[in-house]
Amino acid sequence: MLIVMKANATDAQIERVCDAVRDLGFEPHKMPGPTRTAIGITGNQDAVDSSHFETLPAVERAIAVTKPYKLVMRERHPDKTVIPVGDATIGGDELTIIAGPCAIESRTQALTIAEAVQRSKARFFRGGAFKPRTSPYAFQGLGEDGLKILVEVRETYGLKIVTEALDEPGVDLVERYCDVIQIGARNMQNFSLLRRVGRSHLPVLLKRGLSATLDEWLLAAEYIMTEGNTQVVLCERGVRTFAQHTRNTLDLASVPAIRRISHLPVLVDPSHGTGKNYMVTPLACAGVAVGADGLIVEVHNEPERALSDGAQALTISQYHQLVQEVHPIHEVILQAAVAYEARNR
Ligand code: PEP
Ligand code: MN
Repeated sequence: MLIVMKANATDAQIERVCDAVRDLGFEPHKMPGPTRTAIGITGNQDAVDSSHFETLPAVERAIAVTKPYKLVMRERHPDKTVIPVGDATIGGDELTIIAGPCAIESRTQALTIAEAVQRSKARFFRGGAFKPRTSPYAFQGLGEDGLKILVEVRETYGLKIVTEALDEPGVDLVERYCDVIQIGARNMQNFSLLRRVGRSHLPVLLKRGLSATLDEWLLAAEYIMTEGNTQVVLCERGVRTFAQHTRNTLDLASVPAIRRISHLPVLVDPSHGTGKNYMVTPLACAGVAVGADGLIVEVHNEPERALSDGAQALTISQYHQLVQEVHPIHEVILQAAVAYEARNR
């Protein structure tokens, strides 16, 4: 923390701030400048709460220097985290592709799409059994019956299953049937749910909240990790902005930004990130090009009949085209990885 005093601050006021720093058990360091004095703080392990100083007389502002999170940080864990999921990995050299419908609608639908996903050599199948819908009248998912269909997908095609848990009882069920627990954008700051998945043995795919800053998103990951679960995968899925040409604004700059701060893998979701079928493949390519560890993509055998998110679903042939386009980009990025890592150290 750096406390900047007002230009007219008296010595007594500066001393008062130094005493407040000492009262917290830390060391103040006065830094007189040509017009004003700043006071640095050392001895703190964690971020210091600025409210201790902001109300003291003649304090202009208190600027946080220490990051508020720890476990997610690269400083703590210089190597990138690679998460094993059975015989697949997330965060290693392999480009992770998680594909499938927004929602599991029927056995036939799920198995038809899963066959295509397996044929594309992707290792993960996505599909919601519990859907967080804006309207209570919209299709809410098949619940546990949907999870049972997902188990059939895993048994038939050997794909790892990624599915969303909306609440704590949902986590108990997802743990029983699936391989990766998705925490959706709307639940990114559901702290009791974050703590619950923090006690799970399964990896957690943590989507960025609809209006979450990077710090808020990383602190959500920190909630999971403080409970002991270090297998967290971040997923950029777009945020709300004034843009009207897309459902959300896919913030691809968050990928290198996260990469610089954190050792956790980052995926990009170009489906929710754009909401438009024709934009999914270009933004998937862009996500891989900025260094994402993989993609989560919605695919449907009959998008026009989908019970949720049909407008952004790729057809099966569009999905195969996407897979063909992203792999060569990933190859180039892997070759450049040494330079990339060097830039981020
Ligand atoms: C989904 O993956 O279908 C979903 C609901 O995602 P998000 O939480 O990012 O909106
Ligand atoms: Mn969806």
